[in-house]
Amino acid sequence: MEKITSFTIDHIKLQPGVYVSRKDPVGDQTITTFDLRMTSPNEEPVMNTAEMHTIEHLAATFLRNHTNYGSKTIYFGPMGCRTGFYLLLAGDYESGDIVPLMIEMFEFIRDFHDEVPGASPKDCGNYLDMNLGMANYLAKKYLDEVLYHIDESRLVYPK
Ligand SMILES: [Zn+2]
Repeated sequence: MEKITSFTIDHIKLQPGVYVSRKDPVGDQTITTFDLRMTSPNEEPVMNTAEMHTIEHLAATFLRNHTNYGSKTIYFGPMGCRTGFYLLLAGDYESGDIVPLMIEMFEFIRDFHDEVPGASPKDCGNYLDMNLGMANYLAKKYLDEVLYHIDESRLVYPK
C-alpha cells in the first residue's frame, strides 16, 4: 500500500503550530483538514488521553456552537500519537485563516472551569477519563508559545 500524505511530513523537523494537512474535493466543495500540532513530535512528552479527551469535548462544543464556523465544522478530534488534533472544516482555507478562530477556541478552553459538556455516562463512552486542569494548562501553553505570536515557520510544514 502507498504511504499516505500525513506520513510523508518530516515529524523530526515538525514544531508545534497550525498547518493545513490536506484539502479534499467533495462534490463541488473543498474540505480542509488542519493539523493543530500542540507538542513537538518525538521531542517532548505527548499529552495524556484524559486532557486530550477534555479538549476534544470543549473544542467540539465550542466549534459547533460558533456563529460563523458552526455550520462549517465537519470534525474535531485527537491524533493517535497524542501530539495534536485534527480539525476538518468545509471550505478552502489556508492555515493563517483560522488563527483568530483557534485563539478564540483555546482561550475558551484555557478559561473553562465549569462542568465539561458531555461528560456523563449517557453522552460519552469513557466519561470519567477527563482532566480539566491539564486541558486549561495545555490550552494556555499553546496560546502563549504558539498562537499569540505565530509566523510562517509554524503555519507551513517544514520542507
Ligand atoms: Zn467523550
